[in-house]
Amino acid sequence: MIKIENLNKTYKTGSVEVHALKDVSLDIKKNEFVSIMGPSGSGKSTFMNIVGCLDRPTTGKYMLDGIDIEKLSEKELAAIRNKKIGFVFQSFNLLSRTSAIKNVELPMLYAGIHAKDRRKRALEALEKVGLGDRIHHKPNELSGGQKQRVAIARALVNNPAIILADEPTGNLDTKSGEEIMSIFQSLNEEGVTIVLVTHEPDIAKHSKRIITFRDGRLINDELVENRVVVN
Ligand code: ADP
Ligand code: ADP
Repeated sequence: MIKIENLNKTYKTGSVEVHALKDVSLDIKKNEFVSIMGPSGSGKSTFMNIVGCLDRPTTGKYMLDGIDIEKLSEKELAAIRNKKIGFVFQSFNLLSRTSAIKNVELPMLYAGIHAKDRRKRALEALEKVGLGDRIHHKPNELSGGQKQRVAIARALVNNPAIILADEPTGNLDTKSGEEIMSIFQSLNEEGVTIVLVTHEPDIAKHSKRIITFRDGRLINDELVENRVVVN
């Protein structure tokens, strides 16, 4: 699904160069559930931005589902991103004056899907995350955990192969965080590949594999023993 070889990312700000990723190689196969860990500034966001086709490597190769990203135009890259990837963020990124169901419909609006189908699919996605009874609520009428569930429903509606989540439990209490991880676990069981960034070992334990970055290098890659499965 994700194949990265000798990837480097350098940011240039004036004459200052920051080597955010250094010679990173890894494979993430279909149906994996990976946590990315590492201290602040270690390259996690840079890695997620490249995997999510929001940014490109400086050097090295990135193949997404057999497609060589380097060969794509910006427009093709955006199309691949919309088709294959669902994003979930720490701060939810919902439209605050818009109901849950309208927030979830939004990506389908951009994909040109008919209004009736949008509504149907948004409702199904909200039911899947346990919010079938909150569809007309606006974000400020929902708890943090519920907002994140709306965001996950929104990430799901175009049936992405991969969900990329940057600190999805970072703004949540322990119980809501576990509920979110439980939703990710069920999606993963249904075949969705999940890659998430977290600072919390207790969150990472719910995934199947933990990759650790430090100073832009991949320093550890291990399977999770005694994985915690929430019901
Ligand atoms: P997190 O550690 O929560 O992933 P961010 O990804 O927002 O935090 O930022 C990580 C580091 O990258 C910070 O030190 C931040 O200052 C730096 N950073 C992020 N975006 C930029 C940017 N556009 N220009 C310069 N530095 C940035
Ligand atoms: P993390 O997510 O692990 O906190 P980042 O990938 O955000 O790390 O940052 C890695 C390094 O790259 C940091 O030194 C950060 O300051 C730098 N950086 C990140 N984004 C930018 C950017 N857009 N421009 C310049 N430097 C950046």
